[in-house]
Amino acid sequence: MGRALRSRTEGSRNEPERSDELTSGWAIDLDGVVWLSGRVLEGAPEAVSLLRARGHDVIFVTNSSFYRRDEVAERLAAIGIDALDGVITSAMATASLLEVGEAVMVVGGPGLHEAILARGAEIVPDGLDKPDAVVIGIEPRFDYERLSEVMVAVDGGARLLATNRDPTFPTPDGLRPGCGALVAAVSAATGVQATFGGKPEAATQVMVHERLGAGGVVAGDRNDTDGALAEALGYRFALISSAVNAGYEADAVRFDGLLDAVKSLSTA
Ligand SMILES: [Mg+2]
Repeated sequence: MGRALRSRTEGSRNEPERSDELTSGWAIDLDGVVWLSGRVLEGAPEAVSLLRARGHDVIFVTNSSFYRRDEVAERLAAIGIDALDGVITSAMATASLLEVGEAVMVVGGPGLHEAILARGAEIVPDGLDKPDAVVIGIEPRFDYERLSEVMVAVDGGARLLATNRDPTFPTPDGLRPGCGALVAAVSAATGVQATFGGKPEAATQVMVHERLGAGGVVAGDRNDTDGALAEALGYRFALISSAVNAGYEADAVRFDGLLDAVKSLSTA
């Protein structure tokens, strides 16, 4: 995981009285915690303000790969949250698994395209040029023809990468198929298992740890992504109630919203 604590301790080197090292950073999920399809969830902006007032570093970690990093920051700004360069998307984490100059076929939205280009990889036309890798995110018009193109690329030796395992994501109209559902189709056709970059995978762990260091908190609404990320990092986990965990029975501690979790778990 590296010596990622350096950046956190630098600022307080000459101020031993400050408690920065003791004040944990928070990695906050977006869908179902801060907003739901762009509609702000009650108390979320206040919760972020309260955390910052108490000296916590706050970052936003989403398994959505569709929107560009700047678009995520703009959407946060529109509901009164300054992202302060603290957005990590599954597209960014997955792109970190690519090598500079690799030829990549992309099944996904603008956020995934941007992250892959920012990594220094080259995006090639669909399956025609024997790509080094195929990267799967969310592509609303994914269909049999697209699946066939991916299959040709993977059968031709391309590595299969994907942003996240989430089988669904929440919308105001209910759950919709997530990246994990598309990848399941690809794996069924090719017999190849994907390597994932988003929560809770190693690529995301590294990015979160580089920013927050040890001893943080993950607030999210999925045990299998947010909770597993917290466990892998040795962070505390605040499970926020939402549509995607309404069926869970075993979770004794669940917060009604981000503000509830912040008031309960953050230190002044
Ligand atoms: Mg979520």
